Amino acid sequence: MIFISNSFLSIAVSILNTYQSTRTDRRLQDMLGVVDQQILNKLHSIHPSTSHWAALPVRRHDVRLTRLRIGHTRFTHRHLLLGENAPECPSCKVLYSVYHILIDCPVFNHHRITFFHTSVSTLSDLVGESLHQNLFAFFLKIGFLHMI
Ligand SMILES: [Zn+2]
Repeated sequence: MIFISNSFLSIAVSILNTYQSTRTDRRLQDMLGVVDQQILNKLHSIHPSTSHWAALPVRRHDVRLTRLRIGHTRFTHRHLLLGENAPECPSCKVLYSVYHILIDCPVFNHHRITFFHTSVSTLSDLVGESLHQNLFAFFLKIGFLHMI
Protein backbone atom coordinates (compact mmCIF):
# COMPACT_ATOMS: atom_id res chain seq x y z
CA MET A 1 0.00 0.00 0.00
CA ILE A 2 1.29 3.44 -0.90
CA PHE A 3 0.89 6.20 1.60
CA ILE A 4 0.58 9.75 0.25
CA SER A 5 0.44 12.58 2.74
CA ASN A 6 -2.30 15.18 2.58
CA SER A 7 0.25 17.99 2.27
CA PHE A 8 1.82 16.28 -0.75
CA LEU A 9 -1.61 15.89 -2.37
CA SER A 10 -2.57 19.51 -1.77
CA ILE A 11 0.74 20.70 -3.27
CA ALA A 12 0.31 18.42 -6.27
CA VAL A 13 -3.27 19.63 -6.83
CA SER A 14 -2.14 23.23 -6.54
CA ILE A 15 0.63 22.70 -9.12
CA LEU A 16 -1.78 20.95 -11.50
CA ASN A 17 -4.36 23.73 -11.13
CA THR A 18 -1.73 26.40 -11.84
CA TYR A 19 -0.47 24.46 -14.84
CA GLN A 20 -4.00 23.96 -16.19
CA SER A 21 -4.90 27.63 -15.61
CA THR A 22 -1.74 28.86 -17.35
CA ARG A 23 -2.33 26.46 -20.21
CA THR A 24 -5.96 27.63 -20.57
CA ASP A 25 -4.88 31.29 -20.44
CA ARG A 26 -2.29 30.63 -23.13
CA ARG A 27 -4.88 28.87 -25.32
CA LEU A 28 -7.32 31.74 -24.84
CA GLN A 29 -4.62 34.29 -25.69
CA ASP A 30 -3.70 32.26 -28.79
CA MET A 31 -7.33 32.09 -29.88
CA LEU A 32 -7.85 35.84 -29.34
CA GLY A 33 -4.69 36.56 -31.29
CA VAL A 34 -5.93 34.45 -34.17
CA VAL A 35 -9.31 36.21 -34.13
CA ASP A 36 -7.62 39.62 -34.14
CA GLN A 37 -5.69 38.66 -37.28
CA GLN A 38 -8.70 37.44 -39.28
CA ILE A 39 -9.04 40.48 -41.50
CA LEU A 40 -11.37 38.72 -43.94
CA ASN A 41 -13.86 37.93 -41.19
CA LYS A 42 -17.02 39.99 -41.80
CA LEU A 43 -16.95 41.27 -38.22
CA HIS A 44 -13.39 42.54 -38.58
CA SER A 45 -14.49 45.62 -40.53
CA ILE A 46 -16.61 46.90 -37.66
CA HIS A 47 -14.67 45.52 -34.68
CA PRO A 48 -11.08 44.54 -35.48
CA SER A 49 -10.21 43.28 -32.01
CA THR A 50 -11.69 41.06 -29.34
CA SER A 51 -11.98 43.89 -26.87
CA HIS A 52 -15.20 44.49 -24.95
CA TRP A 53 -18.14 46.32 -26.59
CA ALA A 54 -20.03 48.78 -24.47
CA ALA A 55 -23.70 47.83 -24.11
CA LEU A 56 -26.50 50.28 -24.83
CA PRO A 57 -28.62 51.18 -21.80
CA VAL A 58 -31.89 50.11 -23.46
CA ARG A 59 -31.86 46.34 -23.94
CA ARG A 60 -34.09 46.41 -27.06
CA HIS A 61 -31.67 48.83 -28.78
CA ASP A 62 -28.67 46.79 -27.68
CA VAL A 63 -30.16 43.62 -29.20
CA ARG A 64 -30.94 45.45 -32.45
CA LEU A 65 -27.44 46.91 -32.62
CA THR A 66 -25.87 43.51 -32.03
CA ARG A 67 -28.01 41.98 -34.77
CA LEU A 68 -26.95 44.75 -37.16
CA ARG A 69 -23.30 44.29 -36.24
CA ILE A 70 -23.31 40.56 -36.90
CA GLY A 71 -25.52 40.97 -39.97
CA HIS A 72 -28.27 38.66 -38.75
CA THR A 73 -31.68 40.32 -38.58
CA ARG A 74 -35.19 38.93 -38.64
CA PHE A 75 -35.67 40.42 -42.09
CA THR A 76 -32.50 39.04 -43.66
CA HIS A 77 -32.53 35.62 -42.01
CA ARG A 78 -36.13 34.63 -41.22
CA HIS A 79 -36.28 32.75 -44.50
CA LEU A 80 -34.01 30.13 -42.94
CA LEU A 81 -36.62 29.33 -40.28
CA LEU A 82 -39.57 29.50 -42.65
CA GLY A 83 -37.97 27.52 -45.46
CA GLU A 84 -38.54 30.34 -47.92
CA ASN A 85 -36.29 32.04 -50.43
CA ALA A 86 -33.97 34.74 -49.12
CA PRO A 87 -35.41 38.25 -49.55
CA GLU A 88 -34.09 40.04 -52.60
CA CYS A 89 -33.86 43.76 -53.25
CA PRO A 90 -36.31 44.37 -56.12
CA SER A 91 -34.24 47.28 -57.37
CA CYS A 92 -30.73 45.79 -57.30
CA LYS A 93 -31.63 42.10 -57.73
CA VAL A 94 -29.27 41.06 -54.91
CA LEU A 95 -30.04 39.37 -51.62
CA TYR A 96 -30.86 41.80 -48.85
CA SER A 97 -28.17 42.14 -46.21
CA VAL A 98 -27.46 44.66 -43.49
CA TYR A 99 -24.56 45.90 -45.61
CA HIS A 100 -26.80 46.31 -48.67
CA ILE A 101 -29.42 48.25 -46.72
CA LEU A 102 -26.99 50.46 -44.81
CA ILE A 103 -24.29 51.03 -47.44
CA ASP A 104 -25.04 49.77 -50.95
CA CYS A 105 -28.63 50.11 -52.03
CA PRO A 106 -29.30 53.26 -54.07
CA VAL A 107 -32.98 53.11 -53.07
CA PHE A 108 -32.00 54.34 -49.59
CA ASN A 109 -29.50 57.02 -50.69
CA HIS A 110 -31.90 59.87 -50.00
CA HIS A 111 -32.54 58.57 -46.47
CA ARG A 112 -28.79 58.06 -45.91
CA ILE A 113 -28.17 61.70 -46.79
CA THR A 114 -31.04 62.80 -44.55
CA PHE A 115 -30.03 60.76 -41.50
CA PHE A 116 -26.27 60.23 -41.90
CA HIS A 117 -25.51 63.45 -43.85
CA THR A 118 -23.68 61.40 -46.48
CA SER A 119 -24.47 58.67 -48.96
CA VAL A 120 -21.00 57.16 -48.54
CA SER A 121 -20.46 55.50 -45.17
CA THR A 122 -18.84 52.38 -43.81
CA LEU A 123 -20.30 49.82 -41.45
CA SER A 124 -17.74 50.97 -38.92
CA ASP A 125 -19.09 54.54 -39.17
CA LEU A 126 -22.66 53.42 -38.56
CA VAL A 127 -22.54 50.38 -36.26
CA GLY A 128 -18.93 50.39 -35.06
CA GLU A 129 -17.63 51.12 -31.60
CA SER A 130 -19.92 54.15 -31.36
CA LEU A 131 -23.08 53.79 -33.35
CA HIS A 132 -24.40 56.67 -35.45
CA GLN A 133 -26.92 58.68 -33.46
CA ASN A 134 -29.52 58.51 -36.25
CA LEU A 135 -29.14 54.80 -36.98
CA PHE A 136 -32.46 53.69 -35.52
CA ALA A 137 -34.26 56.74 -36.94
CA PHE A 138 -32.98 55.69 -40.38
CA PHE A 139 -34.33 52.17 -39.93
CA LEU A 140 -37.63 53.50 -38.62
CA LYS A 141 -38.01 55.75 -41.67
CA ILE A 142 -37.29 52.99 -44.18
CA GLY A 143 -39.63 50.62 -42.33
CA PHE A 144 -37.04 48.10 -41.16
CA LEU A 145 -36.75 48.97 -37.46
CA HIS A 146 -39.16 46.28 -36.28
CA MET A 147 -37.64 43.70 -38.63
CA ILE A 148 -34.14 43.95 -37.17
ZN1 LIG B 1 -30.95 47.46 -53.40
